[in-house]
Amino acid sequence: MKFICLGCDEKEEVPRDVVEFLDGMDVDHDPFNPPQFTCKKCGEEMYPEYYKNEFGYEFHISDVHP
Ligand SMILES: [Zn+2]
Repeated sequence: MKFICLGCDEKEEVPRDVVEFLDGMDVDHDPFNPPQFTCKKCGEEMYPEYYKNEFGYEFHISDVHP
């Protein structure tokens, strides 16, 4: 899965099983938000290019970063 930084457009490839593992580990699990990573370069949030979680909610980078 590709994650894109909302600050500097840095892209990072994260294996889907890792993303799902982290998503499931989240204690404040919110089905309306995708798992997010922090950019190593600028510290901004990284958003998935596309992700569909276990509840069937879909997230696209274009939702937050045209
Ligand atoms: Zn960044």
